[in-house]
Formats: sequence, C-alpha cells, structure tokens
Amino acid sequence: MRFECQRGCVNCCDQPGFVYLTEADHLRIAAHLHLTPEAFQAKYLYRTKNLRRLRIPRKVQCVFLGPEGCGIHPVKPLQCSTFPYWPELLDNPMEWEKTKEWCPGMSHGPLVNIKLANKQVKQMRAAHPHLYQG
Ligand code: SF4
Repeated sequence: MRFECQRGCVNCCDQPGFVYLTEADHLRIAAHLHLTPEAFQAKYLYRTKNLRRLRIPRKVQCVFLGPEGCGIHPVKPLQCSTFPYWPELLDNPMEWEKTKEWCPGMSHGPLVNIKLANKQVKQMRAAHPHLYQG
C-alpha cells in the first residue's frame, strides 16, 4: 500500500456518505468559526443521542468544500484527517483497491507506515464506536 495525498483533488470531500464528528471535533470547529457549540450545531449538525454528523448540502457532499478546497482544513474532523487510514479500508484490501479508483493519492507516494496507519485506525475506532462496534 502506498499513499500521498495529491492536494487539491478533493475527491474525498465529494464522496457519498456521512462525516461524523466527535465532541472534540464539534468544539474545535465551532471555535474556529467563532460560533458557540450550540450555534454550530443548529447550523451544521444532524444530532441524535449517540452521534453528530454534518448535514449534507444539496450540490456537494460537504458544506465546507469550496473552490479553494476544505474551508476548515486546519481543524477538520478526525474522520477527514485520518483518511484513508480507516478500519474499513485497512482491514479490507478489496475496499482499499476500490477506493483507489477515486483517490489518486493511494497510487502515489511512499509505502504506508503500517504502525502509524494502525494508530489512526485505532483512533477512529475509539472515536466512533457506533460505527465500528460488533
Ligand atoms: S481523494 Fe485522495 S488524493 Fe484526493 S484530496 Fe482526498 S486524500 Fe488527497
């Protein structure tokens, strides 16, 4: 496996699926946008008892995706910053291969440091147990 993000392609920001936020993501992004956590939630989140996810706008997958790329890049959610080191991709070589079809970074760069990749997989599992339990 290789990976080096080909910055600017932003294909990962425009895939179907939800962006889940941890509480830390919620607070960090709200502060970055100079919003209270409550105001950020009202404007951007779909919230249930156990999860927070970004609402999906009509035309693109992520409301923060603009012409210059990610509008919250320095504080982006853990789910975005750990891509492609997600449990469902690291644990499943077929899914890794499939994801290569739209992520050019997965066909470039140095060999993946599996220790570091697994660390991010662990972080994702711990941060989002509702996605990975069972
Ligand atoms: S799709 Fe892959 S190469 Fe493109 S911005 Fe996302 S991580 Fe980088």
